[in-house]
Amino acid sequence: MDYDVVVAGGSVAGLLCAREIAARGHKVLVIEEDYEIGTPEHCGGVVSIPAMDDLGIIPIRATLDNKIRSAKLIAPSGKSFTLDARPQQVIVLDRREFDKQIAHQAQVKGAEIQVKTSLREITKQGVRTSEGEITCKIIVDARGVTSLVQKDRTGILQSAQYEVFADWIDKERIEVYLDQEKYPGYFAWVIPTRRDEAKVGVAGRGINSADALEEFLGKKGKHSTIRKIFAPIWVKGPIKEFVSGNMVTIGDAAGQAKPTTAGGIYTSGMGGIYAGEAISEFLESNDTSRLGAYQEKWAAKFGKEFENMLLARSLLERLDNQSIDSICQSVTPKMLDEISAEGSFDFHTTSVAKMLGVRGSAKAIQAILGNELRRLFS
Ligand SMILES: Cc1cc2nc3c(=O)[nH]c(=O)nc-3n(C[C@H](O)[C@H](O)[C@H](O)COP(=O)(O)OP(=O)(O)OC[C@H]3O[C@@H](n4cnc5c(N)ncnc54)[C@H](O)[C@@H]3O)c2cc1C
Repeated sequence: MDYDVVVAGGSVAGLLCAREIAARGHKVLVIEEDYEIGTPEHCGGVVSIPAMDDLGIIPIRATLDNKIRSAKLIAPSGKSFTLDARPQQVIVLDRREFDKQIAHQAQVKGAEIQVKTSLREITKQGVRTSEGEITCKIIVDARGVTSLVQKDRTGILQSAQYEVFADWIDKERIEVYLDQEKYPGYFAWVIPTRRDEAKVGVAGRGINSADALEEFLGKKGKHSTIRKIFAPIWVKGPIKEFVSGNMVTIGDAAGQAKPTTAGGIYTSGMGGIYAGEAISEFLESNDTSRLGAYQEKWAAKFGKEFENMLLARSLLERLDNQSIDSICQSVTPKMLDEISAEGSFDFHTTSVAKMLGVRGSAKAIQAILGNELRRLFS
């Protein structure tokens, strides 16, 4: 078998990359090690409509699970505030269907997709897979966090996410629980998918995510768990080189998920699109420097925001529960209105900086974090 490009990993980044390459008339094969595109789903599915526009996807009925009106942040003491999320146009996707929708887009453009086929080894001529050898000019690594586990474990947190039925779920509100003792460096979440149904999860540094989630759910109240998944998330930002020889790394495999929330549908998906464009340019010109344009384009769009997210993460990781309570108590309705109106779901560090810099509340925090906080504001 002979292709211009083989993409290993048939999820959002890999499929979007293949869609772009096929649209330019090149021969591309996506290999996916699981038996079905979109399964097993390991995602909250939260994304903004503007992000979907950039990805070139209009959610169809099967893809769109829910629309979100608000987001509630709960501090360790129980003190909370609620943000109006309507201006941010946040939706919840069914990732099983969403990935199939992109697979269909790619297929219509001419890409081939082969499931139950795993990348085993890079060879001189292309790749060796579980189903045999394939010859190609370019190999795309879109294998997600799996690919990073082999390179660097320090940016990985273990997450647990259950799908549950419960009558305490608010259909239109996402909930985020901060607690540095229970979920160090991360949080617990409730993402409603439909009435009385949600994805509930936790992640944190060095915790047993399954135990932490059982405890969280036990406190929330009566529920039935209908699905459990455990998956690593990456919070350390982009890897140094997206392109090495004829190997192009995209999506979560390239560290393109947001360091604050590990959300990557948008940022990893755009990585796939930019890579697809650059690979096509290379195939049309045989000029290898064209491949480098992919990393430049991704960095121009997300580089600064990811730097700020890494900074925000390092600040948040150093706050103790008392400081988080203090910030939560001092957030004013005016500030919430401003964040709702001006903030962006995808480029959110300005909103984080606004909260961390809250006047009066966080004098101690500002003393500890002063310089870095100023950098975040700049
Ligand atoms: C619990 C959880 C909740 C999340 N919630 C959100 C959210 O609400 N919003 C958001 O934006 N992001 C969220 N994310 C992140 C989001 O899921 C990822 O950023 C996104 O799926 C990355 O896409 P990707 O294509 O780079 O990689 P992945 O989606 O990880 O896909 C990698 C693919 O490669 C395949 N693969 C692996 N090894 C091989 C191999 N050797 N050969 C062939 N195929 C292989 C895998 O089977 C998989 O299909 C969440 C992640 C987790 C774990």
